[in-house]
Amino acid sequence: MTLNIWVFIEQDEGVIEESSLGILSRAREVAEEKGGHVTGVLLGSNVAGEASRIGKYGAHKVIVVEDPILAYYHSEAYAQVMESLIKERDPDILLASATRNGRDLLGRLAVIFKTGLQAHVIHFEVDREGYLVGHVPGFGGNIVAVVKNVKGRPQMATVALGVFRAQELWGEAEVEILQGRLDPSKFKVRRVEVVRRGAVDISKSKRVVVAGMGTGGDLKLTSELAKLLGADIGVTRPLADIGAAPRDIQIGSTGVSLKADLALVLGASGAPHFVSGIRDVKTVIAVNKDPEAPMLEYSDYYAVGDLFEILPRLIEKLKR
Ligand SMILES: Cc1cc2nc3c(=O)[nH]c(=O)nc-3n(C[C@H](O)[C@H](O)[C@H](O)COP(=O)(O)OP(=O)(O)OC[C@H]3O[C@@H](n4cnc5c(N)ncnc54)[C@H](O)[C@@H]3O)c2cc1C
Repeated sequence: MTLNIWVFIEQDEGVIEESSLGILSRAREVAEEKGGHVTGVLLGSNVAGEASRIGKYGAHKVIVVEDPILAYYHSEAYAQVMESLIKERDPDILLASATRNGRDLLGRLAVIFKTGLQAHVIHFEVDREGYLVGHVPGFGGNIVAVVKNVKGRPQMATVALGVFRAQELWGEAEVEILQGRLDPSKFKVRRVEVVRRGAVDISKSKRVVVAGMGTGGDLKLTSELAKLLGADIGVTRPLADIGAAPRDIQIGSTGVSLKADLALVLGASGAPHFVSGIRDVKTVIAVNKDPEAPMLEYSDYYAVGDLFEILPRLIEKLKR
């Protein structure tokens, strides 16, 4: 029996989100190994033009559902469309990026279908019996739990951002275009406005200066240093939790995975949940006042000391 893998393709104003394409490429690898079929599911308004190019990233087929209300992510509308597609076509596996929207959508679908959801997997495969096996950092990140959902369909996972590269290895996909015909008056949520915060996609950044709680949540020195180094800024989760920085630039197992050449990590302890987001960085440099901080073990170079003393001196030097 052919293993039917679906990937929810996220788009923003018609531009396909890169990490969805990375998931497609990984799904295709799995499908080729197991004799499966990969379908990308793209919801939006006037997005059909983008569909054919999705094939080269690994989709055998793309189902496009067009409706004005699908132009922007809408919890109820997206869930309703996905629910009816899944009921009609019964995929074995459904994957999505662990973006805010992907997490919202698959969480809703997991409840609707009374099935499991592997959250924020950093790798996935399919075992001999056809079960989706997700690698989920667990117990504070000290272990990677290998999880499979043996009950319920579809088997579902959200995939951490930036863990799979989008590969342009395949050909054109078959495209099926459907009309949503949704009635906006049936939904509780009405769109009022779209707010853009303009956060940088740091999964693509070459250099990143990362602020941890050791900065006390004050990003002034971090920003100054980043500017001088031509780098973008990332943060550990507690800084996003306290609102010192947007969640989009949180690094780690529940945030973004970096692929940078350089990460300069300031005042972060090196918790496994954080470190999993910097494992693909070529050169890691840390500053920490604690010589026992685990972060130092994960660094190529480090300075032990107070960042509030070290950074101003470094900034002065770089300015000169
Ligand atoms: C399910 C789950 C998911 C999680 N996902 C993530 C995630 O995606 N990303 C993430 O980052 N975390 C995540 N966490 C939280 C994670 O476990 C850690 O709590 C977090 O990474 C710690 O952040 P931190 O290193 O900034 O802070 P701390 O652990 O408080 O470390 C602060 C560090 O700064 C140093 N320091 C203090 N003052 C100075 C100074 N003046 N100069 C130099 N150094 C100084 C200290 O020595 C210390 O090492 C997750 C946790 C759970 C349970």
